[in-house]
Amino acid sequence: EPRFAQFKLVLLGESAVGKSSIVHRFVKDSFDDFRESTIGAAFLTQTIQLDENTTIKFEIWDTAGQERYKSLAPMYYRNANAAVVVYDITQEASLERAKSWIKELQRQANQDLVIALAGNKLDLESERKVAKEAAQAYATEEGLLFFEVSAKTGQGVKEIFQSIAEKLPLE
Ligand code: GDP
Ligand code: MG
Repeated sequence: EPRFAQFKLVLLGESAVGKSSIVHRFVKDSFDDFRESTIGAAFLTQTIQLDENTTIKFEIWDTAGQERYKSLAPMYYRNANAAVVVYDITQEASLERAKSWIKELQRQANQDLVIALAGNKLDLESERKVAKEAAQAYATEEGLLFFEVSAKTGQGVKEIFQSIAEKLPLE
């Protein structure tokens, strides 16, 4: 019997880590080296086939990372089913910012929110500043899904959404 479910997903993380690029890779399977920064938030949808019978529609809020928009974030995560918190593997400080978003989500969002931590720009391996093992250990400790991805090459991007879909409750 065919099943259909719809989930709200929010992207959070410091400005320029590649949130919009990850969403565009997932929704349009494209990448832009000169993406304009997001103002406020952008809304996109994408449907995936979880298995033969199960279709999942994601309603995605791609938020702006800038501090001046920080007060708007609760509007987007409050009734979300899933959150993808993004950092840039070449920017140590962006992982610290991701951790503070995760703390905020753990305190303020739905208790059953599925949270994924995603280290982006994996194609810039030669400029890496954040060890995979350190971020992975933190994610495991906090009970988060964890991925390293590249919006530029597409590596790992679909897997974020696929794994989230597998963790979300279906009737
Ligand atoms: P946002 O502010 O978090 O939404 O970040 P954007 O998606 O606007 O990306 C910021 C900059 O990083 C842009 O110049 C992108 O082209 C670049 N970028 C995003 N993802 C990647 C990636 O996976 N690899 C590389 N090399 N650059 C990326
Ligand atoms: Mg953006």
